[in-house]
Amino acid sequence: MKRILVMTSLTMILIACQIPFAAAQENSKPVPAFQIFDNLYYVGLDSVCAYILKTSGGLILVDTLYEEFADQIPKSMQQLKLNPKDIKYIIVTHAHTDHTGGANALQALTGARVGMAEGDWQMNGLGTYTSSGGQHRQFKPIRRDLVIKDGDTLTLGDTTIKFYITPGHTPGVTSIEFPVFDQGKRYKAFMFGGMGLNTVNGARVAQQFVDSVKRVMAVPDVQVNITNHPEPAQIFERARKLRARKPGDPHPYVDPEGFRTWLQTTLAAGQKKVEAERAANRP
Ligand SMILES: [Zn+2]
Repeated sequence: MKRILVMTSLTMILIACQIPFAAAQENSKPVPAFQIFDNLYYVGLDSVCAYILKTSGGLILVDTLYEEFADQIPKSMQQLKLNPKDIKYIIVTHAHTDHTGGANALQALTGARVGMAEGDWQMNGLGTYTSSGGQHRQFKPIRRDLVIKDGDTLTLGDTTIKFYITPGHTPGVTSIEFPVFDQGKRYKAFMFGGMGLNTVNGARVAQQFVDSVKRVMAVPDVQVNITNHPEPAQIFERARKLRARKPGDPHPYVDPEGFRTWLQTTLAAGQKKVEAERAANRP
């Protein structure tokens, strides 16, 4: 009897480990915060990312995690000796609860202005996260500060970042081009704000996703891939390499070829989705 119980709990652990990382906030855990570049810090969870971009005029926070983890970002910032009150802008890549859930609380805590694209402001307070688990979850509405438009730039202190509206995963996915520095040397980083096909339904939206991937592929000279979930850009694997880096070694996040390869894979998956949706007669 005892033996059966042991086996059952082991089986349950094994099943739990097979749940996809992005499946639900219940499976997410904090990880120690870390610095990636001179001006870029990781303040996210094991399953979903949030980043601080440091400028001479204050901080920009990209994404806010699940509502349940809103206090994790200030905690992570404390580990990095960064002050949450220095956050001037909060950019939300898209209005699913894993990226926008903490925005309401962080907006209140920091007084920062929150920016999102119009398509996703329409989801404000209604944001659902329709993962394989099928959850429909709400998040607390956010004060509508900034409506990000395609091609907009945002300058804070010495830093200018550029936005691309790349719909598909949601109607208003916001992608960001921004500079990062490694011991003073400048590189071009890019964050594709909605890279998952899990919420893409119908041939029209699938085609929109494909067009967005093509758009990102056309951005010239991207050297660093920063993703809003860790796996696609091997955020943690590269962090381990960064910790072990010897003087003179290249920065493990600088990988233009890896970025292009990943986009090609994402494009192929998107094109397959378009065909599948057409074949199933789902416009
Ligand atoms: Zn999403």
